[in-house]
Amino acid sequence: MSAAVAMTVKGVRKSFGGLVAVNDVSFTLGAGEVLGIVGPNGAGKSTLFDLVSGVQPRDSGSVEVFGEAVSGLPAHRIARLGLARTFQKLRPLAGLSVTDNVMVGAYCQTRSKARARAIAAECVEAVGLTHKADDHADRLSTGQRKRLEVARALATGPRVLLLDEITAGVDPAGVPLLVELIKKLAGTDLSIVIIEHRMRVILDVSDRLLAMHLGAVIAEGNPTEVMRDPVVVERYLGR
Ligand code: ADP
Ligand code: MG
Repeated sequence: MSAAVAMTVKGVRKSFGGLVAVNDVSFTLGAGEVLGIVGPNGAGKSTLFDLVSGVQPRDSGSVEVFGEAVSGLPAHRIARLGLARTFQKLRPLAGLSVTDNVMVGAYCQTRSKARARAIAAECVEAVGLTHKADDHADRLSTGQRKRLEVARALATGPRVLLLDEITAGVDPAGVPLLVELIKKLAGTDLSIVIIEHRMRVILDVSDRLLAMHLGAVIAEGNPTEVMRDPVVVERYLGR
């Protein structure tokens, strides 16, 4: 008996001119699993998310979400298949309120404004921003903006959620709230891939860990073991 697979990524590759940013990356994400991805800056982690979520075209490789090929689909169609992601570089629509930002995601699921508003309210609540619902997004702290990103992704109704460094640039005092949020999401039906550079966070939330270096996967498995892998220690920590 094999566990259900949420996402299969096979032989994904992307180069920018002479630079191979993502080099033949393959992995599977189990249903309900939290898969962590670590690696030094420039390892290709965010580009991998771009390739999986259709934000950038792949040179080669395939991606399936719950058995459905997402190859060649534009990002909004991939979102409708149940794949959502956050961006490392935040992209809130600054002139819009928190609720309106999240409604943008909700329109992925519905054309009804009332329904979109209800979905947005739920997702804003889920990330603990109800008290900021009517504030302009540009008035939020970094940690709150990261939670807004998560809310907008959740509002699309995903089954697979990709989180890109949601604790990066966040005041240390704001990190526990984000960890709590990740754990709460992990306790739902969602399957999650999380790129994270804070070691304590990644070890705390991941069921399995994948380490990348120069566009390639260099280790994969139990989080503690991967972080102790001599190759990972050398490449990741630069020793
Ligand atoms: P990570 O998220 O692991 O820090 P990235 O995926 O952002 O790494 O970047 C991987 C490599 O690809 C880096 O060397 C980066 O400079 C390069 N890169 C990323 N996006 C582009 C782009 N649009 N054009 C050219 N090079 C890029
Ligand atoms: Mg990145």
